[in-house]
Amino acid sequence: MKTAAQLRKLLQEIDHRGYPAYKDTKGSYQFEGFVLHIDHVQGDPFAAPSKLSLSVGGGRAGFPAEYRKEAYTRIALEDYLTRLFSAKIEKGRFGAGSGKSGLVFMTRPGQAVLERTACQIDPAEGDILVRLEVGFPANGRTIRSEGLIRILFELFPACVKEVLTYASLDANRVRRVIELAEDQHTIREALPRLGLCAFVADGAVLPRESGVSDRPMKQAVPFSSPEERRVTLQLPHAGAVTGMGIPKGITLIVGGGYHGKSTLLEALEQGVYEHIAGDGREYVITDATAVKIRAEDGRSIKKTDISLFIRNLPNQKDTKAFYTEDASGSTSQAANMVEAMEAGTSLFLIDEDTSATNFMVRDELMQRVIHREKEPIIPFIERARGLYETEGISTILVAGSSGSYFYIADQVIQMEYYIPKDITVLAKEEAARFGAGEAFLSPRQTDAVWTSPCILRAPQASREFAKGERVKTKTMGRDGFQINRETVDVRYLEQLIDSEQVTALSYYLKYAERYLFDGRRTLTEVVDELCRLTEEKGMAFLAEGSYLPSGLARPRKQEMFACLDRYRGLRL
Ligand code: ADP
Ligand code: MG
Repeated sequence: MKTAAQLRKLLQEIDHRGYPAYKDTKGSYQFEGFVLHIDHVQGDPFAAPSKLSLSVGGGRAGFPAEYRKEAYTRIALEDYLTRLFSAKIEKGRFGAGSGKSGLVFMTRPGQAVLERTACQIDPAEGDILVRLEVGFPANGRTIRSEGLIRILFELFPACVKEVLTYASLDANRVRRVIELAEDQHTIREALPRLGLCAFVADGAVLPRESGVSDRPMKQAVPFSSPEERRVTLQLPHAGAVTGMGIPKGITLIVGGGYHGKSTLLEALEQGVYEHIAGDGREYVITDATAVKIRAEDGRSIKKTDISLFIRNLPNQKDTKAFYTEDASGSTSQAANMVEAMEAGTSLFLIDEDTSATNFMVRDELMQRVIHREKEPIIPFIERARGLYETEGISTILVAGSSGSYFYIADQVIQMEYYIPKDITVLAKEEAARFGAGEAFLSPRQTDAVWTSPCILRAPQASREFAKGERVKTKTMGRDGFQINRETVDVRYLEQLIDSEQVTALSYYLKYAERYLFDGRRTLTEVVDELCRLTEEKGMAFLAEGSYLPSGLARPRKQEMFACLDRYRGLRL
């Protein structure tokens, strides 16, 4: 390995030379207390910035070994260090010159705690690796190495010393990060034992600041559980925490417009992730497999068995292996639901407002006029109970206008001025008095509901890949990515919360195309293999060539599935 002094000398020598001379800096350099890796050097000042990483030995970093024993505390610590490191970098900007000259880019996490490539701690040794990007400075295309020398020899050593060294941090703050992760983990673990699919703590702040900010709303009405639903959880650090437990089964959230129904559901959607202290949703924890189901007109569907909900189409199209490049509201929602089942969900989250009405219900009068057998759609209301009783999949449904679901609900929560009330008894009595609910508890509820569609679906690679060939992908923020000329639209996957997850999905897809799509492995086997590799090696196995990009955040298995399901290039 070369020394820092050698790097400094090299940078001084190439000052004022043509930009390509920067290429010689690629390599690893021993600094005091850390190693700087220049993994990839950009070709010109306007290109994507250069990729760098910093590694600190576990002994030197000195974080307590018990903080990294479990993945969930280790990830919380990585997340904390990423936040500190990027905040420090932010303060010292060296931008001057052409293109991205002198800019330092480091991941800035949002409210959720995600596993990321920006900072990784080795579970065994405690070595820390931080990945970031630097625009190597130039004037026009003439190297101005002085700015880079300041970044590498002043900014980075200071950040490493202040952030990646346990001794220089406030040990109490670090401990509180670990304790929150342990408390959150305890709630997650407790849910199945208590027969719950979600928990919302008293005092939680659910609404967000605005449509574009994920921070908590100021002066929000804090959450308060209805007495009937209140449970007390003993957490290792926070002690007794009370809140609303949502039992498994079918739960309706009802109430007048603007009373906070969707806000509660959205908080539950995000409860598959852990949130940082101060977020307001620290103790809002949902079954980690929960999937938001909505209509998604226009999506492509590839050989999905939607016959559970749609059969006997007038055009004779096969709904056991349904194809379309432009799905309707109901077929898209049916596919979303079946695919979520394939992805192993045990909780559907549905908002009537973003659902296809004909997928959700068919009212009495319509049933009388248009006979059942003439209607290809078996609405969700006729399937929901069966899905719970035979497949164990619960549903939490926001219903603003349709009362039909009262008949099949196990519990009914009414939101009133942002405060939930349990109105199960009242709603059931009213439903019984109203009568005619049998139609919704038809024999279809107990059909053997699901014939595994994944057996049919074994994708082939879309083409041959040359050895060492790079497949280009481009992330379009949170909305999707491009792979070759194909756009994968993930905008309606509401539980994807970070563009880094989208970038990671593009890498997972690239990997699957190249190594896993062989016409034999089913989609389920492909995704299981991707998850297994991630568990075993972290996202490092996604690296193409010699380095792993800094901007990847780990998506859930459910979103990996959903991404492959929406890939129009999927060859089945
Ligand atoms: P609904 O789905 O019942 O029509 P929403 O959940 O969309 O209602 O909420 C309506 C408005 O109320 C939103 O602007 C939301 O931000 C706000 N809101 C929701 N919950 C709270 C709360 N606990 N305190 C203050 N405002 C809230
Ligand atoms: Mg709403």
